[in-house]
Amino acid sequence: MPRPDPRTTGQLLDRVRTHAARHLAALDDRPVRATGTPDELRDALGGPLPDAPEDPVAVLDLLTAAAERGTTATTSARFFGFVIGGAVPAAMAADMLTPVWDQNAGLYVVGPLAAVTEEIARGWLLDLLTLPPDAAMGFVTGGQMANTTALQVARHHVLAAAGWDVERDGLAGGPPVTVVAGRERHSTIDRAMRQLGLGGRPVLVDVDDDGAMRPDALAEVLGGVDGPTIVCAQLGNVNTGALDPVGAVTDVAHGHGAWVHVDGAFGLWAACLPRLRAATEGVGRADSWAVDAHKWLNVPYDAGMVVTAHPASHVAAVGTDRGQSAYLQFGERTLDAVEWTPEFSRRGRGVAVWAALRSLGRRGVVDMVERGCAMAARFAELLAAEPGVHIRNTVVLNQVLVGFDDVDVDALVTAVQQEGTCWMSGTRWRDAHLLRISVSNWQTDEEDVERSVEAVVSAYRTLRAT
Ligand SMILES: *Cc1c(COP(=O)(O)O)cnc(C)c1O
Repeated sequence: MPRPDPRTTGQLLDRVRTHAARHLAALDDRPVRATGTPDELRDALGGPLPDAPEDPVAVLDLLTAAAERGTTATTSARFFGFVIGGAVPAAMAADMLTPVWDQNAGLYVVGPLAAVTEEIARGWLLDLLTLPPDAAMGFVTGGQMANTTALQVARHHVLAAAGWDVERDGLAGGPPVTVVAGRERHSTIDRAMRQLGLGGRPVLVDVDDDGAMRPDALAEVLGGVDGPTIVCAQLGNVNTGALDPVGAVTDVAHGHGAWVHVDGAFGLWAACLPRLRAATEGVGRADSWAVDAHKWLNVPYDAGMVVTAHPASHVAAVGTDRGQSAYLQFGERTLDAVEWTPEFSRRGRGVAVWAALRSLGRRGVVDMVERGCAMAARFAELLAAEPGVHIRNTVVLNQVLVGFDDVDVDALVTAVQQEGTCWMSGTRWRDAHLLRISVSNWQTDEEDVERSVEAVVSAYRTLRAT
């Protein structure tokens, strides 16, 4: 293929600008749901692999035409599904340039900007989230990989303390590792255990009505557990938003010599709120943490962080054998990201995290998280005013669970998604089928909440009347 003509490159970048601006300008008026079907997208983009090269501008036009119907407006201020953040402008823009530079962020020597932005973002994040300033951090794809990596470090640490070298000798023949977690842990904990050969299911600890782990129940469980142990606490239950009493949980677990991991994919951001200082007290005493940037920090996908208070164990568990990779060029250990994540080559995902933090500042982050909580509370207040509608959780963060008398919640969810003003999904909680609202977008304001409540209430009244 010939090198691109500078005019083609210029044309391509102009098109990117036009398409991006058009997508963003339409966000507020288009249906939040995707309007295309799988077959429409296959027809538009598929067919046999072309024999001959195609003009990059034509390829881009084809793709962006399909994107109009093939994207869900997850960056819209009225997207409330799962826990999906949008993209603050500086992070989105920085992430658009990241592939232009196309740095391999695994090694400092081929990606100095990627390495140093991650180093700076690490310091800022530890400060904001009230974690130990000398903690180690790896920038991974998201909460799943952060949980898996943290448990990999934990596995090394608790086995080393029992005199077993798992990196050299594997798991077979070694002391068994017990993983303990709350009944309402996230499914990615169980998945991480499977990936690490730690069994398919943790020993379960009872939780309170909102799903937060009970420290007394943990003490009881640990009383019956011997040997290397990892306790998984949670900040931010994915349904209710509940926060485990992480300081008390950590003290109980440390009293038994266990490692404490905190899955705080979105809920760890509560640690930056002065209002919730008491609820997150002691979070910095744990041993490892998982937190997402692509959720509440509103960095584009994909961006999560694994943090551990034990850098030596971290490197021992996930780092490279430098001798075996003599063809590479290593530098300062903290700047070579290959030492801190399970990946080898990877994109510079810390660049967008740095840009989000730099553009928001401490006040911007705190305001964004606080506003998410306030808008969730507003949803609860407005919805509870409708007869037959009930709020089913204590709204502590950005999550709201809503029950409805006399209608099938599946049908309600479908009706709300189809109508298109907003996008919410359903869930099961305590045997009830509920509507689930997650406020994770930096732009969501009172008007978005009011418009969305109107859409939900109107769908509910229609269904109830039929
Ligand atoms: C979202 C979430 C995860 C998984 O994170 P991904 O970024 O989707 O991989 C894990 N734990 C909790 C509590 C979550 O909310």
